[in-house]
Amino acid sequence: MSLVTQSPVWRPFTQHALQPGAFKIARAEGAWLEGEDGARFLDAISSWWVITHGHRHPMITQAIREETEKLDQIIFAGFTHEPAEALARRLVALTPEGLDYVFYSDSGSVCVEVAIKMALGFWRNRGEARARILALEHGYHGDTVGTMSAGARSPFNAPYEPLLYDVTRIPFPAAGREQETLDALERACREKPAALLVEPLILGAGGMLIYGGRTLAEMKRICEAHGVLFIADEVMTGFGRTGTLFACEQAGVVPDIACYAKGLTGGALPLAVTMCRREIFEAHLSPERARAFFHSSSYTANPIACAAALANLDIWATGEPQARVEKLCDMQEMRLAHFAGDKRFSNVRRLGVITALDLTVADKGYLSTIGLDLMRFFNARGLLLRPLGETIYVFPPYCVEEAELDLVYEAIDEAAARFGKP
Ligand SMILES: *Cc1c(COP(=O)(O)O)cnc(C)c1O
Repeated sequence: MSLVTQSPVWRPFTQHALQPGAFKIARAEGAWLEGEDGARFLDAISSWWVITHGHRHPMITQAIREETEKLDQIIFAGFTHEPAEALARRLVALTPEGLDYVFYSDSGSVCVEVAIKMALGFWRNRGEARARILALEHGYHGDTVGTMSAGARSPFNAPYEPLLYDVTRIPFPAAGREQETLDALERACREKPAALLVEPLILGAGGMLIYGGRTLAEMKRICEAHGVLFIADEVMTGFGRTGTLFACEQAGVVPDIACYAKGLTGGALPLAVTMCRREIFEAHLSPERARAFFHSSSYTANPIACAAALANLDIWATGEPQARVEKLCDMQEMRLAHFAGDKRFSNVRRLGVITALDLTVADKGYLSTIGLDLMRFFNARGLLLRPLGETIYVFPPYCVEEAELDLVYEAIDEAAARFGKP
């Protein structure tokens, strides 16, 4: 496939000195990306976790086409449009009962920033000086300064450290150590923080770390008992990845604030929402202008993106994605079983349609090149996989077929033979 090397483009999360080239993709369809020369990649990470049903789902493509005939972009303060109104009504109906208000933005990072700002605004408007954020160890919430602050500290954000605000970290609820997490949370809640921010059931960029619904429900209960707002960052987990439409459903948790982004338009266009309970909206209601919620993105509730999201919800309403997700869970489980007890791996795990395995290697750590070496190895086999260091994970769109998934796991087996150190 043609590789672009001479380019003024500065790419995300890329060390250009180690990775000077980028594959040039001309077309995408279903689970496949295709270059100008016809060479293909199987998109086994849903193009960085955004594509749900597959690339260019006809209903979403059609909705985008139709909306462009009516509206492009309009100001969203003082004005509204049917795609945004209809989408908000449907999201309120679809998400856990009690999330009654929808604030639009355009990316995962921004919708989490909005959630944090809503929490602080809530407390300030109620006359309580609560501003501290609690967050899970190994968490990831985005790359803006506010969300980086809440996320795990690593070499990736070390240069920005002087600007990051301090948060209270709650240990990750590793299997068998859940009580430590709950105890730490209980202690932290006594200090009257503003909110707990968590990725429900699985921490994505932190290494696809899975924890149980019971722990999630307990964390919510503790927050509630102390009046601490519970913010669920469902940016990655939303729209089927964990086996249910939203991860919080599995724990019966209704967050006070929830963030959805990646799969909201089926991955076709950028759109995000921060949803909240009535009290949080109402805390900002006042004759005083200063109590308003002061946030706006230029492209708030872009009509074309909202139309894509509505089409996405129409697709979910057919019941077809749920059936595909269920089948994909089984397909993933079957292939993972092959690696159970394999000494070359540890932590062989699955949540919903996501699987992950940690390859035992000599050189570990954030800045080791093992992730890059593995990625190149997979790329050479026509697979888009992008390991997080030595953690190989498979995060396919729901349209992926049995035989396609076999290609992925065969390559993982080969990669272990090549790079693994038992
Ligand atoms: C990807 C991600 C974000 C950030 O979303 P962007 O759209 O990349 O800004 C936030 N939280 C979680 C859990 C994510 O996985």
